[in-house]
Amino acid sequence: GSAKIMEAFEREIALNGLDKEVKVIHTGCFGLCALGPIVVVYPEGCFYSRVREEDVGEIVREHLLKGRPVTRLLYDETVENNEIKSLSETNFYKKQHRVALRNCGVINPENIDEYIAFDGYQALGKALTTMTPDEVIQTILDSGLRGRGGAGFPTGLKWKFASGNRGSVQKYVCCNADEGDPGAFMDRSVLEGDPHVVLEAMSIAAYAIGATQGYIYIRAEYPIAVERLRIAIDQAREYGLLGKNIFGTDFCFDIDLKLGAGAFVCGEETALMTSIEGKRGEPRPRPPFPAVKGLFASPTILNNVETYANVPQIILNGAEWFSSMGTEKSKGTKVFALGGKIHNTGLVEVPMGTTLREIVEEIGGGIPNGKKFKAAQTGGPSGGCIPASLIDTPIDYDNLLAIGTMMGSGGLIVMDEDTCMVDIAKFFLEFTVDESCGKCAPCRIGTRRLLELLEKITDGRGEMEDLDKIEELAQFIKENALCGLGQTAPNPVLSTLRYFRDEYIAHIKDKR
Ligand code: SF4
Repeated sequence: GSAKIMEAFEREIALNGLDKEVKVIHTGCFGLCALGPIVVVYPEGCFYSRVREEDVGEIVREHLLKGRPVTRLLYDETVENNEIKSLSETNFYKKQHRVALRNCGVINPENIDEYIAFDGYQALGKALTTMTPDEVIQTILDSGLRGRGGAGFPTGLKWKFASGNRGSVQKYVCCNADEGDPGAFMDRSVLEGDPHVVLEAMSIAAYAIGATQGYIYIRAEYPIAVERLRIAIDQAREYGLLGKNIFGTDFCFDIDLKLGAGAFVCGEETALMTSIEGKRGEPRPRPPFPAVKGLFASPTILNNVETYANVPQIILNGAEWFSSMGTEKSKGTKVFALGGKIHNTGLVEVPMGTTLREIVEEIGGGIPNGKKFKAAQTGGPSGGCIPASLIDTPIDYDNLLAIGTMMGSGGLIVMDEDTCMVDIAKFFLEFTVDESCGKCAPCRIGTRRLLELLEKITDGRGEMEDLDKIEELAQFIKENALCGLGQTAPNPVLSTLRYFRDEYIAHIKDKR
């Protein structure tokens, strides 16, 4: 409903003769999806939530004309004893630290001047005019930035592997914007709210490794993100920030979009590159790794949207600034898409090492209807669950692996006491069975057999020995599938079996 609300503001502002003084700016997502549509009035920073078309006239007449905020429409946490607090003091925002999302909900994503006004393209200018490509790579290495797409591989190391023979071989820089995990919408939000940050970061990466062409592989199901990227690319070309002799240097780099057709497996790096080449998007064995032989058999680096969104700030503020946030081995912040049985669904960005309890109880506002927290699923269909007994685990790459789940791209689905964990495992497995590309038997056949065993249990036909069969088959698939999709597909089953075995047994014993 936001578009209608925006039109209503423009109409009311004109009717009240304020159109010379007040500007209505369309921004990306502010993070608090549960309270949308959101309107923020600056310079006061008054945060109106769940705004309806019929509220617009009152906001314009009372707030804009008379300077009296309409308190009944303000987000209730910002009003205390009739005083309006800043948004950063509210429970939802006070523990957050926005690096990747810093411009989302703040600037107009379709206006390059606003991005530039918020330090945009300064990092690229700094890299091109004051740093050597090796210094750029060393800065990213020293920052400790790890890939935010799932595996957590050190970004600087990836760049270093692709940096040999600069200038003498064709190289590519790619962006994985094929976000496909159920419940994940972090990348979409960055692209819709701050598309230039990705273009700037890719240009910095291209300078670092000596690439001249970039591709953003994005889901066609994200039409707003696609449109904003198209606008951003055109604007960057017009401003001389993409193309030839950028910042008056010898550096030349351009970016094209490639729209994905919705196959989850195309988020896997080798399948993604095969799809850009115009072939069926199927994974291929590694090695060779893309840094050696990637797109069109040339050295290629591929990072996901959130990883890139951190890069310009690291170049501008230095490696130490970034590595001062987070835990010993997981630096910086992480964006999570908070969903499921939680009050404040939305996007949150917190320093690595924040506990699940802080995210669920403080930022998320707890579980609705007085229910108890039971578990949270991280990493979507590749990840696993964190039970209530581990709610105080500081979230970082290594801690999550140690408890049998993974960071994944950042989907965080909260479950309450009424959720059946066998159903959850079945839901994620149904997803991977559907999305298996079929190239290798352990995944194509193995995940289907695994699902049949789960269905047998939930249909009331299960037997105790089925649990051993599930564990044996799951282990076999993990060890023998060709790509990450198959290798991680059994994780939700294994993790729910580890922490909620009693629920599987209850299904078998009760024959329900
Ligand atoms: Fe395809 Fe699954 Fe094999 Fe990956 S593991 S190549 S998705 S069949």
